[in-house]
Amino acid sequence: MNKNDKLNKLRRIISIDKELEQIFTAAKPLEEKRFLLRRYLSDLLLTVFDESRQIPPLEWIVCRDAIWVLRNILAPRSEELSGFSLLRYLDTLINAPDPTGLEPLSSAFLAELEHLIKGSNGMSGIYKEKPPAFLRYSGRKAAKLRSTDLSRMAKKSAKFMNRYPSGLDKELRRQQSLNKQAIQNYFGITDLEWNDWRWHTRNIIRDAKRLGQLIKLSPEETGAIDKARKNRIPFGITPYYLSLMDPDNGKTWDQALRAQVIPPPDYVDLMIEHRRNEDCSMDFMIEHDTSPIEGITRRYPNIVILKPLLTCPQICVYCQRNWQIEDVYSEHAAMGQHKLDRALRWIEETPEINEVLITGGDPLLLADEQLDSILARLARMDHIIRIRLGTRTPVTLPQRITDALVRTITRFQEPGRREIVVVTHFEHSTEITPVAMNAVQKFRLFGIGVYNQLVFTYYNSRRFETAALRQKLRLIGVSPYYTFNTKGKQETDSYRVPIARLLQEQQEEARLLPGTVRTDEIVFNVPRLGKNYLRAAQNRDLIAILPDGRRVYEFHPWEKKLALVDTYVYTDVSIYDYLKRLRKDGEQVKDYETIWYYY
Ligand code: SF4
Repeated sequence: MNKNDKLNKLRRIISIDKELEQIFTAAKPLEEKRFLLRRYLSDLLLTVFDESRQIPPLEWIVCRDAIWVLRNILAPRSEELSGFSLLRYLDTLINAPDPTGLEPLSSAFLAELEHLIKGSNGMSGIYKEKPPAFLRYSGRKAAKLRSTDLSRMAKKSAKFMNRYPSGLDKELRRQQSLNKQAIQNYFGITDLEWNDWRWHTRNIIRDAKRLGQLIKLSPEETGAIDKARKNRIPFGITPYYLSLMDPDNGKTWDQALRAQVIPPPDYVDLMIEHRRNEDCSMDFMIEHDTSPIEGITRRYPNIVILKPLLTCPQICVYCQRNWQIEDVYSEHAAMGQHKLDRALRWIEETPEINEVLITGGDPLLLADEQLDSILARLARMDHIIRIRLGTRTPVTLPQRITDALVRTITRFQEPGRREIVVVTHFEHSTEITPVAMNAVQKFRLFGIGVYNQLVFTYYNSRRFETAALRQKLRLIGVSPYYTFNTKGKQETDSYRVPIARLLQEQQEEARLLPGTVRTDEIVFNVPRLGKNYLRAAQNRDLIAILPDGRRVYEFHPWEKKLALVDTYVYTDVSIYDYLKRLRKDGEQVKDYETIWYYY
């Protein structure tokens, strides 16, 4: 669409609501228009409430929400916070013959505006079908009709979920076992070495040359890895994790796996640029301001994070700590004994802390004795009642979960006194394999709970993709715990998913699973402060839609009503661009169309 086409489209969108059109086209000062628009929207809201019976109840809710959002966006406070005035922007576009000096009108913006105006006029079009037949009956007849509807819904979700294989499925299991054999042949090893975690850590694949000898790489992948290595950007893949991938690079089931470890070119370029730029911080969570002593992060009253090791068997591209994570063989990765002692002493002297999350990095890369010594020291502190171990080894290096390690960890679990919890990080159903399941089961046999923290990235965000993962996680003994929005870091922009998609996934996909399976909370991590629970709409406000179609949110901190801290203003990625990318990757955009009505 050229500029004129876009302007014409804008006029058509505004004309959906005649009252809105009249206010915008009137020759009146801007502030008077703001007053009239807000009064009109307030009246509209009252009308919607008063005449609710004329609109189906669920369309009424969409309508009410859309009016609320539009009103909020027009508020001067929202404009001040977001630095953008939708009112001024629209007024100039509609009334100036040839608006210049304005940010260009984008298709992404038009799509947002169209949905917002349609929504506020009860025209969302979400509910295309008639009300279900069972509502007209009662008793057994209603129950049978309802059962038929529910079966239809279940079949639809199963059809989606079946698109995502798991390593427990016969076919993928066979493929992954062939891959394992090929890697063993390449290294000239037997199962003895393969089952030894130390062999894997000694043979982490760290350059494109070796990786290219084991799996097919695109020229883009090769180039990005080479550049990352040249610029000392941490990169590594365990031979085990490599065996989960499609060696032929068929661009099908292993895309979520590759994307986790093979950095895209723009990521590498931005990492290089950001590292050179002293003013640029990659510490999205502003851990520098929440670390009372080296190696400790504290964001909550009773919990601290202890980071004895700042590396992992393999490096995730979207890692929130990419500013701090070291290369796997780096001599700077481990915290020195002196610093570790100081950090532990700090915990000892802070009796308000009763839970310690040991993470990093991955603490299970430490030797058993080192881990034992940290756990023993914590166990001697009366105020510590829970120790969490944040580890990805069940996914990337399940061989690490040896009987000896499990004994080391589980001996500190004392029912009624102290709980040990393992928090891991499965991202996709293809990572769920018999070996990973055995690793998890070893902990479960000793009564240790294993939980999953998922990062919702572009690569696992297709319809029912994470629902399929949750189903399988429960079957191997892992409880879904948190689903995190990918951090808003520029270098990982291509991993980000609009907040609206997370909300849609929870309502339209996770909600269909049994309560024992959909146990995770979807969260947005507010820098410096901590988790904002996205499920609760009252914990955020949509305050702007920018000319490029990105939404701006104001997130409320968890301390709301407890302490007077600041809110956090966040610019999301555009829904339009996200859907465009999905379409390019073969998805049907109509399957996602309700996304626009999640705020
Ligand atoms: S396992 Fe966790 S800490 Fe390690 S690189 Fe991945 S996201 Fe970062």
